[in-house]
This record gives sequence, structure tokens and C-alpha cells, in this order.
Amino acid sequence: MNIDIGKFAGFCDGVKYAVENTFSQAAKSENEIYVDGHLIHNPQTLDMLKNSGVHTYEDGEDISVLDGKTVIIRAHGVSPERRNILSKHAKKLVNLTCKYVAKTQGLVKKYSLLGYRIIVIGNPTHPEIIGVCGFADDVFVVYKDSDLDNLPNDEKKTLIVAQTTLQKDIFYKFVSKIKDKYKNSEIIIKDTICEATEQRQNEILDIAKRNDIVLVIGGSESSNTKNLYKIASEIKTSFYVEYKEDLNNLDLSNYKNIGIMAGASTPDWLIEEVAQTIKDKYASPLSKFFSNIFDFLNYGYIFFSVGAFLMSYAIYDILSQAFQYQIGIITASYYLYTSLSNGYSNYTIRISDKKRFAFYNKYKLFFMSIIFISCISMFYFSYKMSVGILMLTILSSLLGIGYNMSFKKQSKFDNSLFFNVFKKLIPFKAIVISVAVTILLNGSIFILNRNIIKEKFFAYLFSASIVFIFMFIRQALMEIKFSQSDKIAGAITLTTYIEPKKLAIITGLVPIIPILFMIIGIAMDKFSLSNNIKYLIPIVYSSIVSFIAMRRNAITISRHLFSFLIDSPLYILFLAALIK
Ligand code: SF4
Repeated sequence: MNIDIGKFAGFCDGVKYAVENTFSQAAKSENEIYVDGHLIHNPQTLDMLKNSGVHTYEDGEDISVLDGKTVIIRAHGVSPERRNILSKHAKKLVNLTCKYVAKTQGLVKKYSLLGYRIIVIGNPTHPEIIGVCGFADDVFVVYKDSDLDNLPNDEKKTLIVAQTTLQKDIFYKFVSKIKDKYKNSEIIIKDTICEATEQRQNEILDIAKRNDIVLVIGGSESSNTKNLYKIASEIKTSFYVEYKEDLNNLDLSNYKNIGIMAGASTPDWLIEEVAQTIKDKYASPLSKFFSNIFDFLNYGYIFFSVGAFLMSYAIYDILSQAFQYQIGIITASYYLYTSLSNGYSNYTIRISDKKRFAFYNKYKLFFMSIIFISCISMFYFSYKMSVGILMLTILSSLLGIGYNMSFKKQSKFDNSLFFNVFKKLIPFKAIVISVAVTILLNGSIFILNRNIIKEKFFAYLFSASIVFIFMFIRQALMEIKFSQSDKIAGAITLTTYIEPKKLAIITGLVPIIPILFMIIGIAMDKFSLSNNIKYLIPIVYSSIVSFIAMRRNAITISRHLFSFLIDSPLYILFLAALIK
């Protein structure tokens, strides 16, 4: 069974902007927050908003509940009149109207002032249309053929605009009928259907053509999802999926190619959850068996910890030192226990990676034992090697605490000075854990051979930068994958400050750091190119992995593929070390 997820499936820019800003308001605002109407048409995200303390102001409720509160205008926008009412009650008004809706509002306002009649083609009960109409004096909404009969029979100049999520052919069907009616009038036509809608509607046509069945994921109230479903169902058998549980009523066993598309208000994790549920349900017993094994290797960080051990081997090779396996064990154990502990301490996992969360709960005793054993083995080997390495291990473990901490708003630790200091490290978890592993591995090698920096300065810098960037790239790519759900869960990561796409570019470019050390070392005749040129292979490979991970499909299609992708540079590094 092949699963084909649309490139444009999921949050559009307008929804993303509104959702992320609302959650960030929730994280920092002292006031209670109300959204004027449902922020988006997605029940799961609305539940999460509720859990984050964001209330919905429903039409007809007593408006005085907004007094003194932060009030959010959602992506659909509101009329000027409604905006005035809201601002009279709210302490702070946050306008998250989508730029495409704002553009339609601006056009309607401008042409209305110029004396035009406005005809809006769209659903008259949709909040966007109610808001847009509020910007005009002489306005009519056309949604069905009979609405054309209500248009006045005069020759007034007219502006025609569309609901941003309308189907293009419906818009032009009504435009041509209106033009027929007003043959002698000046008519300006502005196709205000937004880019996101167009992209999704074009893509679903292709998805429907190349697959045997189409699943359209989105809230039952979402007009753009309904339109996608309508387009797909005209070409292929299609199903509307609002909740993952809707799949229980569906038998997909006779279909080979399943197309998946999602509306503009459907979060990534729901798309991934639906795709994963299908894969798990229809997998053969053999692939289910391998999938379970992979879950253990992946969720248990076995795959990555073995990679960390092999990375230690490569670092020794770069420094032309005999490999000391104990240092490899310390590094692997460190990564194992910090990452697994993070699986239990990080509360956002239950939102961003539900499958992993369920897995950890199912095998809690097993993973707790691994955490315990790896912690003991790390300190045992450190102690056996030297007191200096033990101190480094303690230092790295303290940094690991920073990595493991993620706070809910109003956490019980809020008033603790110690935790407040660490709290500042949270957005930089990817950097903190990478520094900690570099300190542990390269620092241990230094403690065991204090002349190494003097003798092989550039090789040492080269090796330390390799450890840092290989750790950093993996952490950053994980944060990119979970950036949407992390924001929704209120977690602060690097993606809070750096757009995921920009962060992916940074991870693709950081491998230049060891190359720079290599070039400077060669220029100063202090670096052996013949011994180390082979390491260009994993360095370039890690950069390629970052650029692949930028592609949306790599993020949503499969947890196994994604994990394999981000862990694989360590294995390539080891293979390079074996080249003699
Ligand atoms: S569907 Fe279009 S108009 Fe609506 S929020 Fe998204 S980008 Fe904006």
C-alpha cells in the first residue's frame, strides 16, 4: 500500500500565523485570552487551545465576559463595526486577520467609498463573508443561483470579489452570470481566492488522478476542506476524515494507492497520525514485526546511541589515537539516559509524538531500567577512567538537566532560582545537548592526553566541531519536525525564534565549520589532508540530510524514515573512519 500525502496538505500561512500567535499570546499574556469565534475549524487544535487557557467567545454570549481581557480577532477577520465593539470591551485587541482576507476587506472598502456596488461570491453565513460585507454600504452576497434574482436591476458600477476559500470554477461561473445581467455596467472583477486555496485545489486534482482513493482530512466546519472533498469526490472515491477514529469505519484493504490531502486548518500531527494508523492497520505481519523492532531501536534511542559509540571511534581516528571503548560507552550511555529521560519529562511529547508517548508508557519499566543502567554505566566507566572524566560527566549531566526540562505555564518550579536559570536554556536545548556531548567526548580525550591540543590543534578543533555539528543537526531536525506541535503545546525551542525553514538551512550550512578548520589547518601546514579527506563524505552527507529534511514529505511521511535519515550521518561517519 502506498500513501501519497499532498505537498500542500495542512496549515496554510494564515492559519499557521493565527495559531502560533494565539499560543504565544497564551504563553506570555497575564490576561485571560478570548478568541472571537473558533480560531480555526479543527476540533483537536481547539481542545488544545482550551487546555492552554484560551477561551472561545461564542456569538450570543454576554459580551461583558470580554471586559479587561485580551481578545483575538481570528484569521477570518471581522467587520469594522464588530472591531469597534470588541475594542470597547477588550483590554488588548490582537488582530490576526489573514493577509488575504485583509486584502479583500481593503478592496471592498476602497471601491465602496468610490461608489461601487459590491458583490461577494461566497457563503453568506461564513464569518469571513460577514466581516467583508461590513466594509461596504451597498453589498450583495451570491452563493446559489437564486441569489442572482435578488440583485437590483440597475446600471450601477460593480466590484465582484470572492470568498478566499471558494472553488475557482464556481467563482467564474457566477462572474459570467453577473456580467450577463449587467451588460451595460462597469464591472471590476477581483479574484480574491487565496494562493493557499488555489494550490490545494490544484494539488487535490493531481492526487485524485494518481491514486485509487482520496482521504481528505479536516474539521467538518472547514469550508476549504469541504471544497477539497467536493473536488476529489467528483474524480475518485473519497472520504472525509475529521478524527483518526473515522478510519475505523473504512476498509482500505482493496486499495493500493491512498492519496491524502488536508484542509488549511489541519495540523501536521493529525495528517501524520492518520497516515501512520493506515500503515499500521494494513501492514503485513512481517512488516508489523519489523516495525515493532524499529520502534524499540528508534524510541529506545538504541540506533542513535550505537551511532554515538561509533562516532567516538571516528573521533579517535581523526586524532590518530588508539580507540578507548570506555569513552565510547560513556558517550553512548550519556546520550541514552538523557534522551530517554527526556521522553518521560518532556510533557509536549504527548501532543507532538503521541505514538512515542504511548510506547514509553507501555514499556515504562523496561525503559526506566535502561535509563538506570545507562546512568550507572556512564558514571562507573567515568570513575574508572579518571576523576577528571568523572567531573566532565557530572558537568555534562548538569547540562543534560537543562535539556530535559520543559515547563508548563505556571509550573511548580516557577519560583526556584536554580530552575529559573535553567529555564533560560530551554530554547537552546539543541545547542546545550550538543555542547554537553562535545565536552564529554573531546574533553575526555583531552584529559587522557593533555598534549593533544598542543600536538594536533587543528585536528582537535576539526574533531570537536564534527561532534558538535552532528549532534546539533540531529537535535535541530527533530525540533523542525515537531515545531508545529511544540508551538501548540507551548514548548519553546529554537524554532520559536528561527523559522523552521531557516533553521533547516542553518543545519544544512553548519557542516562548513569543520571544513573551515580543515582548510585553515592545511593552509598553516598543521593538518593532514590525506588522513582526513575521507571525512568530507559524512560532512557533505549530513548537509544533504538537512536539505532533504526541509522537504515536507520527509517530515510527515514516516517516523521510521525520518529517524533513519537523521541518525544515519553517524553511521556514515563511522564508515568513513574505516577507510584506510
Ligand atoms: S485559507 Fe487562505 S485566506 Fe484563509 S487563512 Fe489560509 S491563507 Fe488565509
